[in-house]
Formats: sequence, structure tokens, C-alpha cells
Amino acid sequence: MAKLGFIGLGIMGKPMAGHLLAAGHMLSVFDIVSPSVNELAEKGAAACKNSKEVAQKSDIIFVMVPDTPDVETVLFGKDGVADGIKPGSIVVDMSSISPTATKEFAQKLAAFSVKMLDAPVSGGQVGAQNATLSIMVGGDPEVFAQIKPYLELMGKNIIHIGGNGDGQTCKVANQIAVAITIEAVSEALLFAAKAGADPKKVREALLGGFAQSKILDLHGERMLKRNFAPGFRVKLHQKDLNLALQGGREMGISLPGTAIAAQLLNAVAAQGGKDLDHSAMVQALEILAAHKISE
Ligand code: NAD
Repeated sequence: MAKLGFIGLGIMGKPMAGHLLAAGHMLSVFDIVSPSVNELAEKGAAACKNSKEVAQKSDIIFVMVPDTPDVETVLFGKDGVADGIKPGSIVVDMSSISPTATKEFAQKLAAFSVKMLDAPVSGGQVGAQNATLSIMVGGDPEVFAQIKPYLELMGKNIIHIGGNGDGQTCKVANQIAVAITIEAVSEALLFAAKAGADPKKVREALLGGFAQSKILDLHGERMLKRNFAPGFRVKLHQKDLNLALQGGREMGISLPGTAIAAQLLNAVAAQGGKDLDHSAMVQALEILAAHKISE
């Protein structure tokens, strides 16, 4: 049985690592903050003092940290994965980061005779907890085939998109669609509320029609209940939309909806909301309308 490692045990990583452990795999874990490490150690994981130690103890290393510089630190920083990794190991980066940087990281790891997959996810905290994540994978098809049984412990819809970086490109596309849909749901509920219709009833009615979506269901409910505890933090979605807009600039294409959604998230962050759930985007529109959809 392969020895597994997991680095980054936050909102997503902790339950995902928990599924690998529950399936009976040997698992070495590390996070820069310790409570989750201790929690998994109590369930049988080996707690490590840094990413290097995880790499020394593992054949397959999963990474789930916030942003591109964090993945770089985990892989190539002091006491990072590259300091301890054995030739033939596999790194599976499940964080949502830059597609371009991902290609560079894969090349750098190849110099250590290590293969890399990018395998970012969609489905949020609930998907991580229920092992129903959608997982979009970039990298060699043979490596994908080898890793798929482990991904199946964490997700349901697991698609090999293409080469290194293509999983991340798919995730950026996902984040464009999610952000613009949150904006659409926010505007629809705000319009209805300002017009005097009960936005709760409006959401219920829309859920049975053509405007139905998971975001109307889950995020619409959050907006109405003012439940903005994350979930998916505003600052993480800002990061993803910056990747989208940067990619759009590099390719010379216009992404107007993405730009508007990014500006609204910037406004929420400027109001002190960078650690709120991204459904808090509605708050920026409420300020513009001088009207709240609910108290
Ligand atoms: P989080 O902030 O809750 O967790 C990240 C964890 O990484 C933290 O525990 C942090 O201490 C740890 N970490 C940071 N730098 C580290 C380092 N150098 N070494 C070891 N550990 C380190 O974030 P999250 O919500 O779990 O998101 C993780 C990734 O998954 C992000 O890229 C995010 O965009 C993506 N994602 C999140 C969601 C969601 O709903 N939360 C959904 C899909 C994808």
C-alpha cells in the first residue's frame, strides 16, 4: 500500500485528508497551524514538523494550501517537499493556483524524477466533507490512472482535462462561472426585495424554473439568512478572479462579467470582508442600492 502525505489542513484539506485516513491509508500530515494536525494525529495520521518530513515519509503527496506562493513555499521553500522527496514520488496539488506557475512547478519537480498532477476541486466545504468534490486534473494520463483511486475517496466527478496546468485552467473557468452566478443571484434577489416581493419566496419560485442553480440554492439561502461565515473566503475568490483577468490580459480577450464580479469582491474586502464567504458579494450590491435583501 502506498504511503500518502497531505500538506494544508484547512477548511478543505482537513476533511479530504480525513477520507484518505478513514480508507485505511498510512498518512503523514503537516500544516503551519497545528490544531488540524493534532486532530488528524488523534485519528492515526503521523504528524510531521514540516513539508520535507511529509515528503520523506510518503510516496504520494497531496497539497491543499491557499495560493500560488504557498504552493511554491511548500514545494521548494526551506524544509519543503523538494528537500525530502524520493525519485518516483508523485505530487498532487489540489490547491487552486496559477496554471502557468503549475507548469513551471511540474518541470522543476521533473528534475527530481518526480511527477506532478494539478487536481483542483469544486464543490466547497460540503463537497469536501461528503467526498463529492468535482476534481479537474492536469498531467500525464498514466499518472492520472495511478492516482484516480485516491481521488475517488475525495470526489465523485473526476475528469482528466489534459496536460500539466490544464486542471488549473479548468478551475479558473469554474470560478468565472461561479462568481458571475453569485452576482446574478444577488442582483435578482435585491431587485425583488426592493420591489417589495418577499425574496425568500422569490428564491423558492426561481429554484423550480430556468434560473435554478446550486448557487441560487446554497448561496441564495446564505444571503437571506445573512450567513457569511466561510465556506469559501472572499480573498480566495479574489485570487481566482485575478488569475482569470491576468490570463485574459495575456491572451488579449475581454472578460467583462469577471471584471465586474472581481470589483464587487474588492469592495467587500475593502469593507473588511476578505474572510467572509463569497456569497457576501451581495453586500457590495446592497450598498450600491442602499437596500438590504434581508436583515
Ligand atoms: P484555508 O485557508 O481554510 O486552508 C489552507 C490551509 O493551508 C491552512 O490551514 C493553512 O495554515 C495551510 N497552509 C498555508 N501555507 C502553508 C504552508 N506553507 N505549509 C503548510 N500549510 C500551509 O483554505 P481552503 O478553503 O481549505 O482552500 C484551500 C485551497 O482550495 C485554495 O486554493 C482554495 O482556492 C481552494 N478551494 C477552496 C474551496 C472552499 O470552498 N473553501 C473550494 C474549492 C477550492
